[in-house]
Amino acid sequence: MNIPDIQNAQDDNKEWGIINCHTHIATINYLNKSLFVWPFPISAVSLLGNPFLRKILLFLVGKIISPALAMMGYKSLEESWERLASLAKMSTLQDEQKIKKEALQKKAVEENTILQDEYQIKSGQGHVFDILRSYYPEGTKFVILSLDTEYMFSEKKRKKVDENNSFEKQLKDLVEIKNGTRYKGEQTAFPFIHADPRRPGIVEMVNRGIENSDYHGIKIYPPFGYLPNGDHPDAYKDKDKKFPEDLREIYRVAEEKGTPIVAHCTPTGILGDPYYNKYHGIFTDPDNYQILLDEFPKLNLCLAHFGGNTAWSKYLEEPWEPSEEEDKNNKKAWGMKITDMIEAQDEDGKLKYPNLYTDISYTSFDLHTLALLKVHLSSEKYKALSHKILFGSDFPVLQADITERAFSINLRGYLGETLFEQIASKNPRRFLRL
Ligand SMILES: [Zn+2]
Repeated sequence: MNIPDIQNAQDDNKEWGIINCHTHIATINYLNKSLFVWPFPISAVSLLGNPFLRKILLFLVGKIISPALAMMGYKSLEESWERLASLAKMSTLQDEQKIKKEALQKKAVEENTILQDEYQIKSGQGHVFDILRSYYPEGTKFVILSLDTEYMFSEKKRKKVDENNSFEKQLKDLVEIKNGTRYKGEQTAFPFIHADPRRPGIVEMVNRGIENSDYHGIKIYPPFGYLPNGDHPDAYKDKDKKFPEDLREIYRVAEEKGTPIVAHCTPTGILGDPYYNKYHGIFTDPDNYQILLDEFPKLNLCLAHFGGNTAWSKYLEEPWEPSEEEDKNNKKAWGMKITDMIEAQDEDGKLKYPNLYTDISYTSFDLHTLALLKVHLSSEKYKALSHKILFGSDFPVLQADITERAFSINLRGYLGETLFEQIASKNPRRFLRL
């Protein structure tokens, strides 16, 4: 029995197997209801709960709001809206798959046959994970980044947590998914725990979870209002905000154990409190990680998104190498900052940060940045870079622009099998220590 769109166009999974190092499967129930409020009088996240409204929203954002914002040059606002649209798309996909599966179940009952596990109806994150998996060859492995949105706004806008939608429940689901999905005996789901230093007991939660192998790695998301390095002179003007010393303890243990960490690192993305808007660049700037890596040089760290799509497009329009003056004013493109850190050598000519990586999730969805990626991967100038770039898609964020399948096939087709294997299998295995 076949469901046409669960079949795979990319059936040719070579022995090496694909590893997607950057995905999210948290459903809208787990998001802070204060997210995406502007310009609606009520929370757009609440709107997404309704299948009909979510279709309207998807149309509005995709066809009208996003192109309009892009035309007016509001790039980061456009990206936020696209994230909302992709969530709407994901929820719509969930609805459609559920209807199909229900029809199949009904038929199976009528014909008295037993349905295979993959056609059983699942709920929540398990369902989203099935949708994600259906785009890839069997046996593909996925890093799943959890998302703690409880502390992303001020106390007033803090999400009311009921037990069914708590961060703890989100994590519990992920551990179940991890334990329940194996392919030829191998683990295929690799949950990462989001470490927000404002969550009480987070150090203990992270270190215990990694110790038990519940989670394979750690996720940090500074745009929600904390600093990755715990030490930046200008970041918080507000005296009530504390520096995240807790994170420092997490890094210390992670460096010792080689635990992989994925850190969001672009000038755009979903923001926390508007208060943080002004400091967005400060929170996510690669320079923060420079300070961090000087303290923990062996940290197994991925600076996600390779500096962001906007900077990559800009590079194609203007020189990426800045003038000395620009460099002094910290104008260097983030992709370039990350490249410099990856390539940095010590006095003996060895890599200064041997376990530093970047991923191309979200960044490489349009074709001209793909071409640029290929040039960088084959460059003589950058010796380490091709060993340090990881394949990731940022599912479901791209869903508004391009399907997950088209993204990975475009990438594979453009790079060719050798380079694709390098970034989608060899490098991820090293990063994940598999
Ligand atoms: Zn992401």
